[in-house]
Amino acid sequence: MHRLCTAATLPEAHLLRDLLAQAGIEAMVFNEHAQGGLGELPFTHAWPEIWIASPADSDRARSVVAAHERPAPAGPDRPCFACGEVSPAHFQLCWQCGREF
Ligand SMILES: [Zn+2]
Repeated sequence: MHRLCTAATLPEAHLLRDLLAQAGIEAMVFNEHAQGGLGELPFTHAWPEIWIASPADSDRARSVVAAHERPAPAGPDRPCFACGEVSPAHFQLCWQCGREF
């Protein structure tokens, strides 16, 4: 097991895990249920972590994460299908409810 990165939010962590799975890299999310511990644990310890099963995949996994973090070409703002909030076009998740576009 090898810790790849941390994600700011749980939906973000799940998205990264799915992207890694699509690339054939076995990954899992840790700290999934630690969000309720905010205030008791040091802040960063409650962030969801993405771990990969095989350290040999880490270079490839990092490029998947890097491609995800690279902003997409600019476009019009998009309304969320779930809550109707408008997010900038380069957002991959609704800032309000975390739904994937
Ligand atoms: Zn939304």
